[in-house]
This record gives sequence, C-alpha cells and structure tokens, in this order.
Amino acid sequence: MADYDISVAHLYGNLMNTYGDYGNIIALTYYAKQIGVAVDYHLVSLGDEFNATAYDFVLFGGGQDYEETIVAHDLKSKAQPIQDYIENDGALLAVCGGFQLLGKYMLMADGTKVDGIGVMDHYTTNMHDEKLTTLKDERLTGNIVIKNNETGENYHGFENHQGRTFLGESERSLGTVVSGNGNNGMDNTEGVIYRNVYGSYFHGPIFTRNGNLAKRVLTTVLNKKYPTIDWQAKLNVIETETF
Ligand code: GLN
Repeated sequence: MADYDISVAHLYGNLMNTYGDYGNIIALTYYAKQIGVAVDYHLVSLGDEFNATAYDFVLFGGGQDYEETIVAHDLKSKAQPIQDYIENDGALLAVCGGFQLLGKYMLMADGTKVDGIGVMDHYTTNMHDEKLTTLKDERLTGNIVIKNNETGENYHGFENHQGRTFLGESERSLGTVVSGNGNNGMDNTEGVIYRNVYGSYFHGPIFTRNGNLAKRVLTTVLNKKYPTIDWQAKLNVIETETF
C-alpha cells in the first residue's frame, strides 16, 4: 500500500499516442513509486466527461492530422473544464498534436483549419505557410536538443511535425533550440510553459529521456496535493534516469 496517491488523466490516449507518448506516464509512475506515491490512471476520451477537480496530472499526447480533427471536435465539450484545470494551476504535459490543440488553431498540411480550444495563446500554421522564411514545405523531423533557460538543463528528444507553432504573449518556451528545429524552425523556441502546463514537440517520450523534467513536474504535482511534505528532497535522493 502506497502512502500517497495521485490521479492521472490521459486525454484521448487511445487516439493521440504518437511514438508511445504514454511512456510519459510510465516515467512519472517510475519516480512516484520510489517515494511511496501510487498513480491512478484514467483514460479520458471521446464522449467522456473531463472533471476539472478530479486529476493531479494530465497527459495530452500527439497525433497525426487526421486524429487531430476527430479529437478537436470532441475537445470543444471539454474546453471549459480543461481551462478551469489549467487556471487552477493543474499540471499538464501536452505533446505535439495535444500541444497544438490547446492553442487557438492549427492548420493541417492540406490547409484545413482545425480549431483549438484556445485555452492557451499559441497558434499553429502549416509547413506551406508563405511567411515561413526557412524550411518551407518541409516537415521538421529528427533529433533535437534544447536548453531550459531557467534551470540550465538540456533536454533531448525526437521531433516529427509539419505544423509550425508560434507562442503568444502569456507564454514562454520550454527551452531554446541547441540543435534541431523546435516550434517553427525560425525563432529558436521549443515547446511552451504556461502556469503548470508544459507543451513540447518532443517524442521519445520526453519524461523517459529527461528524468530531471519528469521529477520537476512530479514535484509540482505533489506540492500542490500534499503541501506539507518536502517532495523535492525525497525526489533528490532518487537516481535520475536518462534513456
Ligand atoms: N499532426 C501534427 C503535425 O504534423 C502533429 C504531429 C504529431 O503529433 N507528431 O504537425
């Protein structure tokens, strides 16, 4: 029996799971278990209700353009509780397609505009956009390294996307591109941080390859739920894995 527990929602995990983004939950669970925290997993998909107060962590993974259009439709009905969750400082990791759909809109490769839920300020244009000054008409694919400017940590991942995301005023990047392309191949930003939301184009998955980030997010999650315990100290003595 674990002493503590956290509840995790996997948004559209049966549709949006490019390159095994579910591995982010496995990584989170790996660290949680070592400090006596159990993780309750909940798949929240098409037609399901998203209860803004029921979860301590949310994963919204990536998907191809086709899956995104299906999910975008259903997501409208969850927009308000997802916004409530975010504005109440809930922790959320959004990868690639999930990252795109939390923003204002995304343009598919064929030019179709797909509405995001606009709970965050970024927008995503497509690989054929006239305003692209580099890599127009190309997918952004390959290994990527970024530097997180607050911690100085480097994160490693693999990106494969056609969409080009541009951050809004209220958002800062997860990191600055060291090598690879990032959000749009132009402004050297990769991913997003807004309140306790982390967005990224990294597959790999990002938490398995970057255990330091997984531990940081887990600390945020646990500090919110159990504020009297020094979770950072507990996690500091656990070995950080990088695969
Ligand atoms: N369909 C999106 C794009 O290509 C997202 C892809 C992904 O999630 N890997 O931009």
